[in-house]
Amino acid sequence: MSHDPALPAPPGTGGEAASARPAPATDARRPQGVTIVTDPRCAGYHHAGHPEHPARVTRTVERLKAQNVLPVKWAEPLAATPDQLLRAHSAALLERLKLPRDFDADTPAHPEMRAHAERGVGGALRALQAAGAGEVALSLLRPPGHHATHDRAMGFCYLNSVAIAALEALAQDSNRVAVFDFDTHHGNGTEEILLGRPRCAFFSVHQFPSYPHTGDTSQQNAFNYPVRPHATREEYRAALAAGLAELQRFAPAVVGVSAGFDAFRGDPVGEGMLEVEDYHWLGASFRALGVPVFSVLEGGYSRELPELIFAYLRGLAGA
Ligand SMILES: [Zn+2]
Repeated sequence: MSHDPALPAPPGTGGEAASARPAPATDARRPQGVTIVTDPRCAGYHHAGHPEHPARVTRTVERLKAQNVLPVKWAEPLAATPDQLLRAHSAALLERLKLPRDFDADTPAHPEMRAHAERGVGGALRALQAAGAGEVALSLLRPPGHHATHDRAMGFCYLNSVAIAALEALAQDSNRVAVFDFDTHHGNGTEEILLGRPRCAFFSVHQFPSYPHTGDTSQQNAFNYPVRPHATREEYRAALAAGLAELQRFAPAVVGVSAGFDAFRGDPVGEGMLEVEDYHWLGASFRALGVPVFSVLEGGYSRELPELIFAYLRGLAGA
């Protein structure tokens, strides 16, 4: 698809602030290797009628295996350690995940949910590792994580994978870490966990009002870009571009992305108007930052999810 001149260009293309940042860790012009972290066990649970269903991942894996544009390497989640989990979550939540009690209607119990959620965390940690090695990296697992707060599972999310990986990046390195969340729902859990932490910042572009009814204003190191329901594609892209520009000013050494695809116009859960090529643009925009970027699948419930993820990965890889 051609670039629409009415829409904002990806950041980094105008040279603004580029000279103030360290040299890019990757050559921004050359297609990169792509590491996809997944595990077939993540398709091993489902609750009838729940939109967060196994085919989101299994169909995307099939789609990526059927293409030859991107040189995909498949990887398994790392084992998350208790110390890594406890940077973000209370011990009480970790115990609660073992109990056969639903958190809420959106977030039911499952006998193996703690293990599924920990593999989600391990996927984000593996993606962080791959990004540090110069790869395009996506954790393609379920459940998602960005609504999980310090001590509460909610909104289909049990453990906050992207926040845990961001805190791991901070623990490994003295530089700055950012999380950018383009899921159409506010990443309330990530914001809560990262709020006020030194050397990190959170950026979220999301529909408001909408679930979880937070993120209407920015505070401290949390930069929120609310977009009204049924906003035009141009309005949504302008908010994304504003968030990306602010992220560039923060000058992170590594970026974690909560990659949710439910602002797509065909999504049954969100009310956004984004098109397939907007996800390619998002990927290209992160690529243009010139720093390691790791992505974690959050929402996205349409039949087109595999195509949206493929477009996003092509943008990230420069393909
Ligand atoms: Zn969402």
